[in-house]
Amino acid sequence: MKLDIKILRGDITQIHCDAIVNAANETLLGGGGVDGAIHRAAGKELLEFCRKLKGCRTGQAKISPGFDLKAKYVIHTVGPVWRGGDKNEQALLRSCYQNCMKIAEENKIAVMAFPAISTGVYGYPKEQAAETAISAVNAYKSKNGFPREVLFVCYSKGDEAIYGKLLGFFSAGK
Ligand code: ADP
Repeated sequence: MKLDIKILRGDITQIHCDAIVNAANETLLGGGGVDGAIHRAAGKELLEFCRKLKGCRTGQAKISPGFDLKAKYVIHTVGPVWRGGDKNEQALLRSCYQNCMKIAEENKIAVMAFPAISTGVYGYPKEQAAETAISAVNAYKSKNGFPREVLFVCYSKGDEAIYGKLLGFFSAGK
């Protein structure tokens, strides 16, 4: 079955789906941006659970319950900090998306939502990040048909325009 890809504009903490992805840092103990918003919306139990996960390496991902969120799970992944583009950033970002897809497959998560990982405080150029995000998700080969649907949640109009342009391009190319 073909993976369904959609773009949504808004706050990822408010999305009703099976799992939302958190652009976390290596401590997994919360931070600013989308990470802070997810921890606030999920409640204190998320932080308690995350302490037991003992951190996460850049490019890797770990799952937790969603606690007070509308989503059942949070998949925490750590994007690379942009250091000019020659420090393996693209491969690491790609690995974030692949590992989140793999965790979704293993947990039979049907609908999952991604924020634009690394494009805030971590400084990854937005268009390049969106290209990698879409390409990694499109290339993922699931053996059991999960996830069925991926939502790219855009926090700004500008991000929505970037994803819209690229997804138009990708689907026209198929
Ligand atoms: P990173 O440290 O990986 O760069 P940030 O949280 O700083 O993570 O930013 C990642 C992206 O998430 C940015 O594009 C930012 O605009 C977006 N973002 C911030 N808050 C939210 C939110 N509540 N819902 C969806 N996206 C968000």
